[in-house]
Amino acid sequence: MKLTRLLLLPAALFLASCAGIVPHRTPPGVTVDLVPRGRYARVQHRPMTPRYITIHATENRSRGANAWSHAQMLKRGAIKGRHNAIGYIGWHFTVDDHSTYQSLPTNERGEHADYDGPGNRGSIGIEMCENRGNDRARTIDRTARLTAWLMKEHGIPISRVVPHMHWRMIRHDDGRDLGHKRCPHFLLDNGRLGPKWQAFLARVMAYHRAL
Ligand SMILES: [Zn+2]
Repeated sequence: MKLTRLLLLPAALFLASCAGIVPHRTPPGVTVDLVPRGRYARVQHRPMTPRYITIHATENRSRGANAWSHAQMLKRGAIKGRHNAIGYIGWHFTVDDHSTYQSLPTNERGEHADYDGPGNRGSIGIEMCENRGNDRARTIDRTARLTAWLMKEHGIPISRVVPHMHWRMIRHDDGRDLGHKRCPHFLLDNGRLGPKWQAFLARVMAYHRAL
């Protein structure tokens, strides 16, 4: 951490407490760039106590589809949720090989997992980027580190770190059952939980033990 950031942090916390806002701790290395309150994925204030962490992959192979650009898309409401309750998609963190952006506070629910189901009602959503030129191994490693930090911060056990595929998707508007999405595809083995997912959890646990 740079010295200037070390000096600015106490001032920011002091200002937040003066304003009567309970400061939420920001994970190390995360840029907070939230969807505006009252707009798009935050059009309704929907408080959440995070009990799970849901891991996704963006499936966006465009060259520029890094963490920053996903945060900008969420900020301007560019990702629509045509079959969900609010009309927009939203998740908490986007990770690429060199940066992480936070788009939703961890005490507000997103729309990233399962429409009106428990995945959206109670989990922090993390999207891993897979734009061309992005280093996947580094992205997975940075995601594991962030996940470990969030587990510790919110008292979430490793048994509640789940892939998007864990949640059954039943659409809000027409009740259509979409089943379980094979996401994050590059941490699955033939579409199922296997060695790749276990290796990811082991990496999360290694970072968790080191905290
Ligand atoms: Zn997903």
